[in-house]
Amino acid sequence: MKEIVEVAVGLPVSKTFHYRIPEKMKSFLQVGMRVLVPFKGRKVTGFAIDLLDQAPEGIEERLREVEDLLDEFPLIDPSMLRFCRWISNYYLYPLGEVIKTGLPPGLQLKSELVLSLTQEGMEGLNKGGLEPIQKKIFSEIGRFGKVNLQKIIKMFPEEVSRSQLFFWKRKGFLNIDAEVKDRQVKPKFERVVQYRGGELLKPLSKKQTDLLRWVGERGEVPYSELNKKFKSPSKAIQSLQASGLLAISYKEVLRDLSARSELKAYPKPELSSHQEALLTEIFKGIYSKRFSPFLIHGVTGSGKTEVYLRAIEEVLNQGREAIVLVPEISLTPQLLSRFKARFGENLSLLHSGLGRGERYDQWRRIWRGEVKIALGARSAIFAPFKKIGIIIVDEEHEPSYKQEEKLKYHARDLAVVRAKQEEATLLLGTATPSLESFYNAQKGKFHLLSLPERIEGKPLPRVEVVDMKGEGNLLSEKVNAALRKNIEDKKQSLLFLNRRGFAHFILCPDCGFTFKCPNCSVTLTYHLKDHSLQCHYCDYGIPAPGSCPQCQGQRLKGVGIGTERLEQEIRDLFPQAQVGRMDRDTTSRRRSHQQILKGLESGTIDILVGTQMIVKGHDFPNVTFVGVVSADTSLHFPDFRSSERTFQLLTQVAGRAGRGDVFGEVIIQTFNPDHYSVLKAKDHDFIGFFQEECQFRKALDYPPFSRLINFRLTGNSEKGTKAMAEALGKVGRLLLEKKYPKGIEILGPSAAPFTKMKGKFRWQMLVKGKSSQQLHQFAQELASQMEVQTKGRGVHLDIDVDPVFIL
Ligand SMILES: [Zn+2]
Ligand SMILES: [Zn+2]
Repeated sequence: MKEIVEVAVGLPVSKTFHYRIPEKMKSFLQVGMRVLVPFKGRKVTGFAIDLLDQAPEGIEERLREVEDLLDEFPLIDPSMLRFCRWISNYYLYPLGEVIKTGLPPGLQLKSELVLSLTQEGMEGLNKGGLEPIQKKIFSEIGRFGKVNLQKIIKMFPEEVSRSQLFFWKRKGFLNIDAEVKDRQVKPKFERVVQYRGGELLKPLSKKQTDLLRWVGERGEVPYSELNKKFKSPSKAIQSLQASGLLAISYKEVLRDLSARSELKAYPKPELSSHQEALLTEIFKGIYSKRFSPFLIHGVTGSGKTEVYLRAIEEVLNQGREAIVLVPEISLTPQLLSRFKARFGENLSLLHSGLGRGERYDQWRRIWRGEVKIALGARSAIFAPFKKIGIIIVDEEHEPSYKQEEKLKYHARDLAVVRAKQEEATLLLGTATPSLESFYNAQKGKFHLLSLPERIEGKPLPRVEVVDMKGEGNLLSEKVNAALRKNIEDKKQSLLFLNRRGFAHFILCPDCGFTFKCPNCSVTLTYHLKDHSLQCHYCDYGIPAPGSCPQCQGQRLKGVGIGTERLEQEIRDLFPQAQVGRMDRDTTSRRRSHQQILKGLESGTIDILVGTQMIVKGHDFPNVTFVGVVSADTSLHFPDFRSSERTFQLLTQVAGRAGRGDVFGEVIIQTFNPDHYSVLKAKDHDFIGFFQEECQFRKALDYPPFSRLINFRLTGNSEKGTKAMAEALGKVGRLLLEKKYPKGIEILGPSAAPFTKMKGKFRWQMLVKGKSSQQLHQFAQELASQMEVQTKGRGVHLDIDVDPVFIL
């Protein structure tokens, strides 16, 4: 039996820690279980990651004991642990936090500091002799008996501090204890009444007879339902239970899924010859039970989803399991209902729109092997399956697969890694492959499959580009005419503008003043609906003023339009049309997003105005015209991927047109009609775009021709953050000189593109290199040197590994 356990705590510390295993736990504790351990005067949840015969040298004396064992069975199996270790190494992120990211929220027990009065404190309160402030605080603590330290500080923020309380503890007046409060999410149980039947020993009342029959017909009924059906039934139930006719027990139930949608029938379609050919290749991968990565490049409307569904069916036939990642599950109700129609209850949903309890229940269904398919947003890559046969990443190019906070993982990249570790088949599907994935395919790391045609031979839409330099209005004459014609023909149109709000910003023409967010380096957007100025990066907002705060001028005007204004203009231009709008402002209410889509489906919307939300894979046969109001918004974004992003958006939005029997038309308005992103999107020419973009990336030595790690510094003080950035540059260059004379290049440090965000100042330093291994080694060393420097300085160092070739 092992003596020592190695523990990764769910806290931002890069090390793991060792603890002694108490005698009573020795035969129970296994790797992958949660333990409660003492840590810096607190008790925190950690994960057992290894069991040892003896402590590593030199730390034996200082070892403390595990406080408690929190699981009966391991939550994390060895393969999941291996996966988490890989992530921790690659993203330079603490293992305990990686494991925590993979588990549903609400499984972390933590201690809180709790105050109570000592004998001396009590006496002081009774006999007097305390200072007034002591008296006030102590009597409050005495009133509660035991009270959370934070609560007392919150009650008297001006009068008492943490250090003051610890001072009184040292004086002997107070106890401060670490107490664990169990706020874990738990399975939900429901009381059910079961029919037992048997001989009647005594006559029943009418109510008892009715109730017994009602339960008898159903076999088993939730108690709550009886409460609704019969007036105060508890007495009747009790006596029926006493005579053995009914039994009461508890059963685990699933919490209601808020995303539950009504079922629609989707008949299994005939496969096209292209789809057949693809599946033959994919099945070979599935049967091989080896890592088989495929990139499916299929034009919009080419029937990728059906390929996914058939591949999954085959994997299930083999007795293995499937993970399906989609960019944003709430935006893909059609995909969801197709999966439900095909697989019914054998499907678990994992995404952040679920409540804590719902997520926990869905996770447990997978963990216990009750379902074979997990469908979800990026975190579903952590689904705790044990026999994964296939991982599918739909719309693999989507930026939302990258988590931008805390653990900055890219779910598509993790899909590659997990599929490789599990010897599974991997499908990356998209109409616009990311540069890195297509590059991998060209290098032979992914097997490239294409669906070059739309299903049933439907043609791709005709795309026209309109140069806006000569146009005075928001909509060109051509877009105007197309919309008008579609209304007359009773067809539907989409108008895409990737900016919400009414006016992009408000300008005083007299003095040039613009309204800026005090927390972020961006201008505030004007929203007409509530007449407000809002920041789209933090939650700052103010009522829109009537005059200029700088010169009191009265001529404030809006510059740059958003979807709110576009909707209004369309209503004015086409009063006879039904106009809808889909953006974050109109879809904040639950289900409002589905309602808009339903309007499009049932034909009550003629023109839908929207942001990139309308780009997502919806399939509406009556949409025959798509207008792109401005292709330029994403083109000017300060990021080396902006051309790629623009090409993707244009191709995807254009792909919404002409999914039915009528030919589709698309018009792109732009001030950059000669930009290759626009031109290649116009020609549906991904390969052409790929080649041009590769030239640009190669010239600047950007991914996929190099690897990139971004060191980001954020801090509350402008000066402090800048100084730390300079220190980072110095330490980095010194390290480079000493140990990495070749192969690595440092760019910066410099202020980040948006220097201030949510009140934090941001600086960054890019590190570029050819070899991932060397770059990681350098990053690790630099990070550990900086850990000392940043300690207690109020500046936070984040490491962001750019999503390029994991393989
Ligand atoms: Zn002014
Ligand atoms: Zn802001």
